[in-house]
Amino acid sequence: MCSEKNGPDTRKVILIGAGFVGMSFAYALLTSRVAQELGIIDQDERKARGEAMDLNHGLAFSGGNMKIWAATYEDCADADVVVLAAGVSQKEGETRADLLKRNAGVFDAILTKLNASGFDGVIVVATNPVDVMTAIVRRKTGLVPTRVIGTGTTLDTARLRYLLGSYMGVAPQNIHAYVIGEHGDSELVAWSQAYVSTKSILSVCRSGENDFSFEDLDRIATDVRNAAYEIIAAKRATYYGIGLALLRIVRAIFEDERCILTVSAPLAGEYGEEGVSAGVPAVIGKEGIRKIISLDLVKSEKDAFSKSCRVIRDLTESALSGSGITKNLQK
Ligand code: NAD
Repeated sequence: MCSEKNGPDTRKVILIGAGFVGMSFAYALLTSRVAQELGIIDQDERKARGEAMDLNHGLAFSGGNMKIWAATYEDCADADVVVLAAGVSQKEGETRADLLKRNAGVFDAILTKLNASGFDGVIVVATNPVDVMTAIVRRKTGLVPTRVIGTGTTLDTARLRYLLGSYMGVAPQNIHAYVIGEHGDSELVAWSQAYVSTKSILSVCRSGENDFSFEDLDRIATDVRNAAYEIIAAKRATYYGIGLALLRIVRAIFEDERCILTVSAPLAGEYGEEGVSAGVPAVIGKEGIRKIISLDLVKSEKDAFSKSCRVIRDLTESALSGSGITKNLQK
């Protein structure tokens, strides 16, 4: 995937939102050599310029030769990927739902300008509540729905793999387990489909091997769910993990990797759900979401997933009716 206008090898990313999350992604992008161009947009233009300068001063050490600049919405016209990390971050004690109204307004302004630029690539959304914001972007841009990817439960899944890996004494790469549903309080671990190497984690616990227990699995799932609250209480915001999750998704797009990540995807009958965007394992390639993987969930997991989708659906409806967005969307 590349911008034809800029030459055959140019991979152009525009980042909208130069806060902690956006700049963690930008820094990771600079050191990864995944893209050749990075334009940074923020409502605080001076901040965007300062961030671009600062990153440019690292170029000599990065091993690549990227073009990094404070961009305008016109620069989105021939971009391959737009990353949306603008908004307000979660405050201590604030639920993701509380963030919704403020961030819906922020997106209304941004998407009007993005649409006017003629952008026709893939959008990756990180702003919370991410499942709702992703649905808003799909509705408001009119892009093919699978070309709008929410980070969904990508980060939660990474946290799960890290914690399970530490618990079992195995590298996270060899843990195959997913957090699905809302990126938020109603998310769930699909334990029936969790594996270490090719062994079911539930059957490992059942066997009593190594003293692994179901209680510990419950504790790990709770720790994953509460990780953001804990980090925010300690240092006000979370950003390195999500910055790397964004890089992982952007790399998968540029490399047409077809790797499986638990992104926020538009469900159209999968898992018995329709018209909602939720974290599910999906195959990611150059056109965005190529395929949603339907896990064989057990009944209790199916019920929990459907409850989680209800939470997202209710929030999405309240966001669309509570902001000027409904009016714009119905045009
Ligand atoms: P931040 O406050 O540091 O940065 C937000 C940036 O957006 C600021 O620089 C601000 O100036 C900019 N902005 C606001 N309105 C804008 C507009 N209309 N146009 C352009 N720029 C605008 O916040 P942060 O810590 O970087 O978090 C950003 C978002 O990412 C939050 O919604 C946060 O909850 C979310 N987040 C998501 C995940 C995830 O897993 N998806 C993880 C962590 C944080």
